[in-house]
Amino acid sequence: MERVIVVGGGLAGVRAVEALRARGFGGRLTLVGAEPHRPYDRPPLSKAVLAGERDDTTVDASWDALDCELLLGHRATGLRVEDRVLETTAGELPYDGLVIATGAETVRLPGPGRQHVIRTLDDALELRALLVPGARVVIVGAGWIGAEAATTAAKLGCEVTVLEAAPAPLAAALGPELGALTVPWYAEAGVTLRCGVKVSSIEEGGVALVDGEFLAADAVVVGIGVRPSLDWVSGLELADGVVVDASLRTARPEIVAVGDCAAWWSDRYGKRLRVEHWDAALNAPDVAAASLLGEEAVYDDPPYFWSEQFGRMVQYAGHHPGAERMVVRGDPANERSWSVFWLDGDVLRAVLTVASPRDFMQARRLLTAGTPVDAEKLTDLSVPVRNT
Ligand code: FAD
Repeated sequence: MERVIVVGGGLAGVRAVEALRARGFGGRLTLVGAEPHRPYDRPPLSKAVLAGERDDTTVDASWDALDCELLLGHRATGLRVEDRVLETTAGELPYDGLVIATGAETVRLPGPGRQHVIRTLDDALELRALLVPGARVVIVGAGWIGAEAATTAAKLGCEVTVLEAAPAPLAAALGPELGALTVPWYAEAGVTLRCGVKVSSIEEGGVALVDGEFLAADAVVVGIGVRPSLDWVSGLELADGVVVDASLRTARPEIVAVGDCAAWWSDRYGKRLRVEHWDAALNAPDVAAASLLGEEAVYDDPPYFWSEQFGRMVQYAGHHPGAERMVVRGDPANERSWSVFWLDGDVLRAVLTVASPRDFMQARRLLTAGTPVDAEKLTDLSVPVRNT
């Protein structure tokens, strides 16, 4: 293999470059990235960057040593898999190996008004300039990012309203019952939360609701989800992401996909997964690089992510949909720290913890190893999770 191209200059892209070199690939390596910036971390964008505590989250990579041609500010526009040619705004690039790491892009709402999203560094810096004390900020979507943006805007003294179409925050991620446990967090932070509210459009100066109400706003933030950035891809199977096997290979062994844009086969969960988690963008590229170089490797870590919601560290590992049952540790209505475990029989499928990093670490180990647990003991706060 003489030339490998990595498309996408996010965390998965830079990690793929590093992994290819670490595994001894000595050929020509090119990274094509649509943003003008070198790869940077996105989790701080809705947290420290929005809060004005950080400006730079660039991933610390030794670009000179990596000997990688950086085509930043250039997009892939098409793919001819039979010819092994990537079409880009910098011209046609032939390849022997291709890593697809173009991540995801935010979904927007209709309407002519200005809608802010938080996906890129530039998005976060633009929005941050508007988050001044007293500014009326309407956030559409009470998902992970909406809640993080609300946390930060409220801390900065803005008057924050969050609109959610579902009956509770985080309903899509966790289901309405668990999501409802986070409702008091909004009031505590001085944020107005309105659930079951349908937005019709974003207008100049505010948000129009389906029932005719208009909410005036100095800034409107839309956090209703993302979709994989794959409009440039053809000739490969796509199903909410690039379809890849457990080794992150597409049906063409010279093309692999990683990060937010990849839908990989998980033997652990017996289904295809696509996640939007920093941890997968960090770790899966090593498997993709191995596969591209003809080595045997499988990516099957339980998915992991964290979020910082109104001063609470929320951590989740695994994949709970379809689990046989759920048990709760602690008292979510009255305590700051609590956890939820999903099980199939005596095997953990997933864990969610709120402000309980120790329980999380112990549960994640049990989950990864597939160690059987006793559900009764999991609910007993006097028994450490590791001893359940
Ligand atoms: P991306 O980071 O999306 O990078 C893809 C890159 O490819 C982008 O730079 C894009 O411009 C570029 N690209 C797209 N199309 C093309 C094209 N056609 N040609 C060339 N380049 C292209 N995860 C957590 O686990 N915990 C968190 O707390 C957390 N917080 C987050 C907060 C925010 C605001 C955001 C946006 C994400 C957060 N995430 C979090 C998710 C995490 O950041 C992502 O899962 C991770 O960035 C995915 O990396 P990636 O490299 O796959 O994709």
